[in-house]
Amino acid sequence: MDAIPVFELQTVSHSYGGVQALSEVNLTVCAGEHVALIGPSGAGKSTLIGLLNGSIAPTQGTARALGHTLASMGLRERRAVQRRIGTIYQQYALVENLQVVHNVNAGNLGRWSLLRALISLFWPLDIERATDALDQVGIAEKLYARTGTLSGGQQQRVALARVLVQAPQAILADEPIASLDPERGREIIALLLDLVAQRGTTLVVSLHAVDVALACFPRVVGLRDGRIVFDCPSAQVAPTQIEELYRTHRIGIGDVA
Ligand code: ADP
Repeated sequence: MDAIPVFELQTVSHSYGGVQALSEVNLTVCAGEHVALIGPSGAGKSTLIGLLNGSIAPTQGTARALGHTLASMGLRERRAVQRRIGTIYQQYALVENLQVVHNVNAGNLGRWSLLRALISLFWPLDIERATDALDQVGIAEKLYARTGTLSGGQQQRVALARVLVQAPQAILADEPIASLDPERGREIIALLLDLVAQRGTTLVVSLHAVDVALACFPRVVGLRDGRIVFDCPSAQVAPTQIEELYRTHRIGIGDVA
């Protein structure tokens, strides 16, 4: 059976005004794949994640997600596709003043009516689903805790639980462990990989921790200066490729640091 593409970028470029963030990127991620994006700061990882979930439109080229060209869809249809893609961010994107249950239930917002969402702010609905999701990320006892009182690792678990409630076909994570110490970071990645493996969910994660990317992900994509410089099984990535990827820009006549 042919692999089904979940994300496809075809000669995609993106610029922010005069800043060229990505140049002619080609990338296909198939159903059930787990891919790590690595590269120095400014390489274009966040922009690439934004192109995959449709929060950023290509300046040139075609970006397809779940079989749809998001940039050419109407808002309603685009939102319907985007609901099937969960995104996790470095800074968790949680409302710290709310109880954990409300942040987890935010994963339901694409499905719930406005009225149901408003009622749930006062009388939390679907407690069972929220508890189950928190149980799966190991913090079921935090259901009614105020989110801001949780540690960084616990808050990222809440963000994972919110995505589980959303039940997406694909999960994107933009530097999800950059704010955590290395041990907590590894725990979060192991948990995320375990959860997606159970569900057959496609996963694309940008990481600054190269060791985690190489040790935990079967496929690694290296980005530098807005271009993909390698895309291969992690076992095939040579140390020299990593050195080259993170090599600091040479400063000389005509070069820019
Ligand atoms: P990474 O995630 O690898 O650090 P980014 O995708 O955030 O890379 O950034 C790629 C390039 O685009 C960088 O040069 C960055 O400065 C630039 N950039 C990112 N976001 C914006 C923005 N909103 N406005 C202008 N330039 C941006």
